[in-house]
Amino acid sequence: MIEAGRHLKAILEASMIEYRELTGSGTLEAEWQENGLLYVLKTSAGMESFAKTNALLLDEFGVGARMIEGGDLPGFDSALKSDLAGAYFYEDDAHLRPDVLNRNWIQRLRSEGVAFIESCELQQVRKQSGSIVALQTSQGELTADRFVFAMGAWSAQMGQELECSIPIEPGKGYSVTMRRPTICPQHPILFPEHKVGVTPFRDGYRLGSMMEFSGFDERIPPSRIQQLRDSAEPYLLEAHCADGNAEEWFGWRPMTWDSLPIIGVVPRLKNAMLATGHNMLGLSLAPSTGRLVSELMCGVDPHIDPSGFRPDRF
Ligand SMILES: Cc1cc2nc3c(=O)[nH]c(=O)nc-3n(C[C@H](O)[C@H](O)[C@H](O)COP(=O)(O)OP(=O)(O)OC[C@H]3O[C@@H](n4cnc5c(N)ncnc54)[C@H](O)[C@@H]3O)c2cc1C
Repeated sequence: MIEAGRHLKAILEASMIEYRELTGSGTLEAEWQENGLLYVLKTSAGMESFAKTNALLLDEFGVGARMIEGGDLPGFDSALKSDLAGAYFYEDDAHLRPDVLNRNWIQRLRSEGVAFIESCELQQVRKQSGSIVALQTSQGELTADRFVFAMGAWSAQMGQELECSIPIEPGKGYSVTMRRPTICPQHPILFPEHKVGVTPFRDGYRLGSMMEFSGFDERIPPSRIQQLRDSAEPYLLEAHCADGNAEEWFGWRPMTWDSLPIIGVVPRLKNAMLATGHNMLGLSLAPSTGRLVSELMCGVDPHIDPSGFRPDRF
């Protein structure tokens, strides 16, 4: 677990640098904010338990938090209630707005000549002498010199075609996005005891959580959305916006059993790569993943050690 943590730390830190470069120049607007991440605990037992996590993070990875007493929390973030046990604040953390990032990133790539083929299902792979020569898709055959398979939670379905084991399970999660409440948190906050998180955006506010292993079930049960709303109530003066307009969403996280992504050359197909299995951190790890893929593909020295992510570890 510690070894996996070291690989994760390397790719997280490298992604942070990439995000700063991407967003800092002002060319990619993503509502990027470096104002930390707060873990808030309701009970003293929760504080004691989290103290162990924090000590482990500090001892093994050099990542430490500032502890904040419950009574000081409303002064730290005025959206928090006054009867909470306390919090741990990781001040070097950052957040962004995923839909804004994706929209602007796609636009930028298009303007630089990248073509997107949408609503196109990959069905089979045509191979010859240990290489892929074409993809058979719902829009006909696509040829290329090299191929990157970044199929998220669906990746395991391609294992047979790619002649390798891709042990990924879909971990379903939900979110609900709405207008900012009048008393809105100033920081992204996680509430580990109720397994829910809130993220404030410039023009919005998101509650997100859950981890269900129920296959590819596309329903959004109202009880799950209610559970999200209820879970934030014990902590926030105004846990959600009262106007009733909210966007309910679900997604599948590509979960691997060792918590590490799968990035690298497909063992038996020399011109194919996998970039998948990012568990709960696909957005956080995206920029360094992209850079690593291009480096491995072009034979350039990688900016991080890729050994922990090798597809042939399974
Ligand atoms: C509730 C929730 C909260 C999250 N919070 C965070 C967070 O705080 N931080 C963070 O970093 N990440 C977060 N994530 C992101 C998540 O954890 C994943 O790691 C991330 O979405 C994985 O990205 P991906 O590009 O690998 O897969 P996806 O985004 O799922 O993309 C895979 C794509 O492949 C396509 N595809 C699959 N099979 C085929 C096929 N046969 N033919 C054609 N196309 C195919 C799919 O349609 C899909 O578009 C969250 C996710 C959820 C659900």
